[in-house]
Parts: sequence; structure tokens; C-alpha cells
Amino acid sequence: TSIYGPDSIYHSPRPPVHFPPDPNLSILSFLSAAASGHPHRIALADSDTDETLSFSDLLSLIPRAGLGLSRRLGVTCNSVVLIFAPNSTDFLVCFLAITALGAIATTVNPLYTIPELSKQAQDSGASVVITIPDLWPKVRNLNLPTIFLSPPIPSFDSDSIPITFFSDLIAHDGSEFIQPAIHQTDIAALLYSSGTTGPSKGVILTHRNFICTAIAATADQEIVGDPPNVFLCFAPLFHILGLSVIAYAQLWRGNSVVIMKRYEMGRMLRSIERFKVTHLYLVPPVMIALAKQGRITEYDVSSLRCLATGAAPLRKDVMEEVAKMLPNAEIMQGYGLTESCGTVSMGYSFGKAQQFGSSGYLIPGVEGKVVSVDTLQLLPPNQVGELCFRGPNIMQGYFKNPQATNETLKDGWLHSGDLGYFDDNGQLFVVDRIKELIKCKGFQVAPAELEGLLLSHPEILDVVVIPFPDDEAGEVPIAYVVCSAQSSLTEEDVQKFIFEQVAPYKRLRRVTFVKSIPKSASGKILRREFIAKVKAKL
Ligand code: AMP
Repeated sequence: TSIYGPDSIYHSPRPPVHFPPDPNLSILSFLSAAASGHPHRIALADSDTDETLSFSDLLSLIPRAGLGLSRRLGVTCNSVVLIFAPNSTDFLVCFLAITALGAIATTVNPLYTIPELSKQAQDSGASVVITIPDLWPKVRNLNLPTIFLSPPIPSFDSDSIPITFFSDLIAHDGSEFIQPAIHQTDIAALLYSSGTTGPSKGVILTHRNFICTAIAATADQEIVGDPPNVFLCFAPLFHILGLSVIAYAQLWRGNSVVIMKRYEMGRMLRSIERFKVTHLYLVPPVMIALAKQGRITEYDVSSLRCLATGAAPLRKDVMEEVAKMLPNAEIMQGYGLTESCGTVSMGYSFGKAQQFGSSGYLIPGVEGKVVSVDTLQLLPPNQVGELCFRGPNIMQGYFKNPQATNETLKDGWLHSGDLGYFDDNGQLFVVDRIKELIKCKGFQVAPAELEGLLLSHPEILDVVVIPFPDDEAGEVPIAYVVCSAQSSLTEEDVQKFIFEQVAPYKRLRRVTFVKSIPKSASGKILRREFIAKVKAKL
């Protein structure tokens, strides 16, 4: 098949896959059907406790948790349940149980501050929160019925907010659970992303988005036998990569997923040895740590066959260094967005090492086109423009935000806000971003959010927040600020003002005072020109 057809649209070089047409299919029913063939295989393992759950254990916990959610907490179709917790196997059980009820899961980074958390809870309309006791000081402010994903604690002041422990949630006999009618097109999750502009918005992801991503993202694995592939997941489950591409997709394919609470080099290497991990999906900073720290020789990591990165570009020297350390593993890069349910392209090797800098090939079922930023014309191979995608993994839009939806989904195409091109062989290269987004250690930082906070300071008149390149984090946010004539604000004052209000990775690494912020005739910040100037100075 031609990668770049006469219609100027790029296709996956992989064979087509079959996406199920049955409208009555849910995330859970699709997983259950696949897992029925291997009930005793390990589905999930906890890297902290070494506890494991077979597919049959997992599938019996979900209806129990579903009954608990509906009977104890009144969760029904279309309720929104907010998960604010670090990775755990229970996190996944809850996510699957929420979607099995036809309810909607929204996930939040545990590093979020109270205002950040409250904003998402309000915007999504969450009626129940799932968290851990350590996060109670933040969660209590929501004043919502709460589930704790940990054992009961002896004395605890819940401020009369109803608290349910996970053990109570699953106390029911799951045989009474009846899954309501769920259509593939029903909403399953609202994961937040700033998209191309403005603050974070709820990305509407349906059951079908997860189902089709699972099929397309694992199509290269075709038949998974015993022993299955083993994926280590320390990518956060609150992010689409961990939730959809690693956890759900790999479980559906019949692989085992080892859940790690948070990344720590020694623990990661120990888990690879302990669980004979075959696949590792990392963000570039972890790849850099792996290349630099060299602790790999302290453990038996010979089971590793594939190391994949995404979320940001990876330096060539880092890729080469890790390749030297792990001669039996393929090292590849993929690309995706929350708006594409996690993935668009993957690094299929087709027997050859992936070309440096490439983000791989389109996954089956996803089509791509490259649009000139100036003329809006479709571009042929090797020409840089805005990357646009279409396929069954693409979001339905932004929650309660038709304007942002219309700006991003045009004629059925997702306009990614990323700049890139396809080469003659259909390999994708992501080279830059036209959207405002800053990606720090793989996490999203929305400049509009920090700019809004800065402008709320009485002495700040104008501001622009832009990315600044950083070896470890990829990018960090920095600000250019215009202060009032009487202001005596220092850089530290401004940094502290922001630090107190946002998750730590969003803190401003540098603040520069300027006389004015360059604007277009219509008053729009000339962000790209600003970024280009800063880059030129480097
Ligand atoms: P998120 O929605 O948090 O997954 O962020 C998606 C954004 O991360 C994309 O729109 C890109 O800007 C960036 N991104 C993801 N993968 C890559 C990659 N391989 N190379 C460059 N940027 C990437």
C-alpha cells in the first residue's frame, strides 16, 4: 500500500485491523471477552508488594467494585468519578468499574494543588472522589463522598464527609452486578489537556476510543502466547499513556502489567529483574537517567526487548548510549496525545533500527495529513506543516467547550498543534509545536494558566509564559513580566507567588522583567516570535 496516496493522506504501513462494529460494547466487556481465554495468567502485579492478580481475579474484582460504587455511593450512568491517586492496581480496578457502570472517570495528577484539583472537580462535575489518605488534606476541600484506596486507618477526622475504604467497596458479591447497556460511543473518561490554546479542558474519550486504541496500539504483537509480554507501568495512570496505551491496551492483548507507584531508578531495575519485564515505556528524562547512571549492570535486565519513549523528542546520544547498554532491546520512539487516546504512531522496526529522530509510523486505522501553516494546503512528504490525524482513537471533543472543539476538530480531523512531516517511507518526524503547550518531564504545563495567575497579581500588568529548553525536563516554563511603575517585585517574589499555587513541575524557572510584551495588531501575544527570539539568543 502507498503511504502517501493520491488523496494526499498518509496511512499505516501495517496491515489493516478490524475494529468491532457492535455498538453495544464497553471497555469491560471487550476486555472480559479477550481475557476469558487465559483466566490464570497474571494480569496485574504490584511492584511494591509483589502481589499479583490473575485475569480471573481482576475480572471478579471489577463487578464487586461496581456494585460498591453504585450501592454505597450512588454512582450511576453518567456520574463523574474523580480519581486523584498515585498508580496502584486498585486504581485500575476502580477505573474499569466506573466505566462498567456507564459512569465517567476523570483523573487528576496527585501533585495538583487544592485550587487546581477543585477546578477540575467542578469543571467535570465529579460527584465522588477516589484517593489515598495522604492526599486527604487536599481532597477534604472538595466536600465530596470519598473512597480511600488503602486499608482503613484507626483514628481519622473525616469532617463528617462520608468515607468508604476500598475493602468495603469490594465487600459485595459481584454475581449481583448487572452491567447496564453501554454503547461504544458512550463517554468513558475525561482526561484533561490544554490542547492547542488556553487552560486545561476535559478531553472526551469514549469506550470506542479505548477499544480501538487497544487494538491499534498492540497490532504489532499479533498473537500473545505464554509467557506473555510483561509491561512495566510507572507512567502515571492519570495520564493517557499509562491508562490507555500501557494498562488497558496491554491487558486486552493478554499481556501482564506491573504497576509501579512512582519512578525510582533502583526500584525500576529491580522490578525488571523480578518480573522479567520485556517492555518499558519511558519518558525521555528517564531514558537520560538510564544512560547517565549506568546502574543497569547491577541487575539482570536481560528480559528487556523493547524500550519505547514518547511525550517529547529524545536526543540521539542518549538513544545510542542506552542501545549500547541493552544490545538485545529495540529502542524506539512513538508519538501521541491525550486527544488521540494516547497514541498516533509507534516505532515499528520492520527489521531495521528506527531512524534517529523519527516518531515511528502511523498505527493501523489512523490516517495523517500535513497542512501548511501559511496556506492551509496539504503538503507532500518531507515538508513541515501542522500534523493532523483521523481515526477511531480520536476524541469526541472538549467537554462543555464547543468553541475549542471546533478549533481542534475540523472536518473530522484532529489538528494536533504539532509541527512535523512524514518522509517518503511514511516515517513521522515531530519537529516543533505551534500550540502553546509546554511539556515538562512529560507533564503538561498550560502557559495560559500561569499567565492567568500572574495577571491576578496586582503589580503585574502583562505577561507571557513560554517554554525554555532543559536537558533533563525537556522544557521548563519561564515568564516575561511587565510590572506597574510602582512595583518592587523581584524575580523570587514572582516565582514564589506562582509556586504557592501550582503543582511543583509548573513552577517558573526564570522570570525576566520587560517593558512590554510583543502583540499583534489584534492584541494577540506574538508567542512564536518571542520563543524564536529566546531560542536565537541561546
Ligand atoms: P499529552 O496530551 O500530555 O500526551 O501531550 C501531547 C503532546 O506531547 C503532543 O501534542 C506533542 O506536543 C508532545 N509529544 C508527544 N510525543 C512526542 C514526541 N515523540 N516527540 C515530540 N513531541 C511529542
